[in-house]
Amino acid sequence: MPDSRPDTVLVTGSSRGIGRAVALRLARDGFDVVLHCRRQQAQAERVAEEIRALGRAARVLCFDVTDRAAARVALEADIEAHGAYYGVVCNAGITADGAFPALTDTAWDSVLSTSLDGFYNVVHPLVMPMIRRRRPGRIVVMSSVSGLIGNRGQVNYSAAKAGLIGAVKALAVELAKRRITVNAVAPGLIETDMVDAEATEAARRAIPMQRPGTADEVAGAVSFLCGPDAGYITRQVLSVNGGLC
Ligand code: NDP
Repeated sequence: MPDSRPDTVLVTGSSRGIGRAVALRLARDGFDVVLHCRRQQAQAERVAEEIRALGRAARVLCFDVTDRAAARVALEADIEAHGAYYGVVCNAGITADGAFPALTDTAWDSVLSTSLDGFYNVVHPLVMPMIRRRRPGRIVVMSSVSGLIGNRGQVNYSAAKAGLIGAVKALAVELAKRRITVNAVAPGLIETDMVDAEATEAARRAIPMQRPGTADEVAGAVSFLCGPDAGYITRQVLSVNGGLC
């Protein structure tokens, strides 16, 4: 019998910033949402309330994406209870910037493990259940303009975000026959907690559109890739950067 449950999308790092905007936009566009955070559970629960007020189902998972065992346990339990997801948006990410000679081991390790191990730790437990659904699916990964062009002071972050693009392109090929698309979104400078005001002012001049983007503008691109109109788009990187590159 076909699964008649509404399509559910997991959005990692959706307690705030871009992830929060993505979760709300997906709900407005008709998806049920699994919110996720590391520590800010109360904030994520508030986003879940906003989504329920829109008439969609929402629940919150809390785990550190760098903790492989915790991620697997939480995701397998959620899938066992509610069924396989239609999609996942791998959005959780951090920066720890610094000129390369002064970069600490911690800054290198934490940025790579949050982005790259985080991708593996979240997507790997979800893929077989998505395949077994035998229906179209979506994987969207949050990369960055830094992963495309490399940014001064962000060797760690640029490496992590470029690595994600490689992972997306390879996984897209593996899953194409299953009708599961895999794409990356590469935002430019987006005004969130991650970006400090001074950096925003300096970067503004380099952006052809002369302004930072908003989380809602990134969310629109993600929701498009998750939606039915993007069924034949896979293995791509969609830049949302005001013309930066
Ligand atoms: P924020 O710092 O505002 O939010 C980050 C989110 O990720 C939070 O929900 C946080 O959870 C979660 N998170 C961070 N580390 C972990 C972890 N180890 N385990 C679980 N959750 C974690 O970031 P943005 O909204 O600005 O960025 C979102 C994504 O977009 C990131 O991948 C970022 O690299 C990317 N991006 C951002 C740009 C920008 O200009 N802002 C530009 C290009 C890309 P909690 O609240 O619980 O800590």
